[in-house]
Amino acid sequence: MKLILASHNTGKLAEFQQLLGGHGIQVVPQAALGIPDIEETGLSFAENALLKARHASQLGGMPALADDSGLCVDALGGAPGLFSARYAGSDGDAQANILKLLDALEQIPEDHRQAHFHCTLALLRHPADPAPLLCEGRWHGRILHEPRGEDGFGYDPVFFDDASGCSAAELSREEKAAVSHRGQAIRQLLIMLARHPL
Ligand code: IMP
Repeated sequence: MKLILASHNTGKLAEFQQLLGGHGIQVVPQAALGIPDIEETGLSFAENALLKARHASQLGGMPALADDSGLCVDALGGAPGLFSARYAGSDGDAQANILKLLDALEQIPEDHRQAHFHCTLALLRHPADPAPLLCEGRWHGRILHEPRGEDGFGYDPVFFDDASGCSAAELSREEKAAVSHRGQAIRQLLIMLARHPL
């Protein structure tokens, strides 16, 4: 089975290739087909995931999978949320995003720093698919006062997972996938694909 992955995010791409590759699903990054990003104008993770998958399937002529994900911080009313990738302005500048987040939470004490990562996946068999497969995952944790760890991407160095006692950037790719929002959503997707093959 071959799918376009509607993302240019190399961190996400690596996680998808690892999680889907073992199940006989070949993930083709949209960049390999010359497909540009589409503007994310939706008002929810689900709407943005659908927009991205539909766009990639239309231009690539194949089934397409998109992930829309983000970090929602309780003390910031759910921000950066949909705007996680461009919280500090320019798209995908993880270091600037982390600095802005730590700054916004400077006065927030330890027991009020709860946050979760959210992921919605949308899989369209073709651009006009009226019944896309939609899956979600949530990973609860809290925001550290300073970055820890070298792995992962985005906000991983400041997201603390209480269960493991590690930041997301201190977990191996396998350990992260076992608990993360994206890992949860992908496992759901694999179950749905087994029931409703493409
Ligand atoms: P999207 O590409 O519009 O879905 O933006 C997702 C953004 O949310 C990423 O650029 C990261 O800033 C953040 N994000 C989503 N998932 C993760 C994760 O697993 N670790 C760290 N940051 C993440």
